[in-house]
Amino acid sequence: MSDRRHFLKTGLGGLAVALAGCQQNPAQPKAAQAARMPMATEKITDRVSVISGAPGNVVLLSSGNGVMVDSGSTALAPAVRKQLAGASVHTLFNTHYHADQTGGNALFAKAGAEIRAHTITKQWLATDYYVPAEDRWVKAPPKEAVPTVTFRGKGEMKADAETIEFGYLLEAHTRGDAYVYFRDSNVLAAGDVVSPLRDPVLDWYAGGWLGGRADAMDDLLEIVNDQTRIVPAYGPVMSRAQLQAERDLIAKLYDVTSTLYHHGNSAKDMIDKGVLNDVGRVFQDPGRFLYDVVKGLQAHYTNFGGNVV
Ligand SMILES: [Zn+2]
Repeated sequence: MSDRRHFLKTGLGGLAVALAGCQQNPAQPKAAQAARMPMATEKITDRVSVISGAPGNVVLLSSGNGVMVDSGSTALAPAVRKQLAGASVHTLFNTHYHADQTGGNALFAKAGAEIRAHTITKQWLATDYYVPAEDRWVKAPPKEAVPTVTFRGKGEMKADAETIEFGYLLEAHTRGDAYVYFRDSNVLAAGDVVSPLRDPVLDWYAGGWLGGRADAMDDLLEIVNDQTRIVPAYGPVMSRAQLQAERDLIAKLYDVTSTLYHHGNSAKDMIDKGVLNDVGRVFQDPGRFLYDVVKGLQAHYTNFGGNVV
C-alpha cells in the first residue's frame, strides 16, 4: 500500500498532460431511472442535510454562509435549489468533475456561489472531453460552471461555527477526487470514492483505479471516527464500519486482480476464475466493473512491478 502511494505521489508532475480532452462519464443513471428516484432532504445533524435523488447526493451545511457539496445534474439542479427552501449557497464544493455532481454548477454560480474543487477537476470542466465507453464527446459546461477556487492538497475554511476540511483523494474514482469534512458536525462528504450500493465506478480514462481507490479509502478512514456520518455520491449515509468493510473489499480485489493481471489474465478470465464470487457483495455488472479494473491496472502497470505479460 505504502509503495503504491509513494509511487503515485511522485508521479503527479505529468498529470496535466493527459487532460487535453478525454474521459469517461460512467455514472449517469438513465433519465428514466433518475425520474423514478424522488428527491428528498434528510437532516442528518443539526446543521447538515443530505438531498438525495439529484440524481446522487448533495450535502448542505445550513448557515449564514451556506456550503454545499456537489450540485446535482443540470436537469435536476432547479429541483435541488427548491429543496434549499430559500437558503443561499456561498460556497459550492465539487467532489469530482462528473456531470451528475457538477451539472448544477452554473445555476448556483449565477446565484452567487463560489465553486471550489481540486485543480484537476477544474481542468476537466474547462474543456470538451471524450467518453470512451460511449464513443462520444461531451461539451464543456458554460464557463460559470468552472470552479474558481482550486486546491491540490489539503485545506480548511470556516463557515460560521463550522470548520470545514477538504483534500485530495488520489486516483480513486477520477484523477481529481476530493473529500469535504464538516469537522464540528462530524459529517464527511466522500463523493464517488465510496459506493455502498452501486458497483464501484473506476473512471480509468480519467485516472481512477483500484489501487488509488484503496489508498483513498485508507485516507478517509484516518479522518473519521465511529460517530462520523459518511455521505457517498450515491446511496445511504455510511458508518465507519461500513467504510472499513468496503475498503477491505477494494484492497482485497486490488491484490487479487493485480496478481492475475500481472500473469496475463483478462477481465473475462477474472470472471471465469470467480474473483467476484464470495466477496460479500453482489456486483450488478461484473463484466463492466472488471473491464474498468483491468483498464486501470493497464494504466498503472508500473506501480506493481512492470513486467506484464
Ligand atoms: Zn463520478
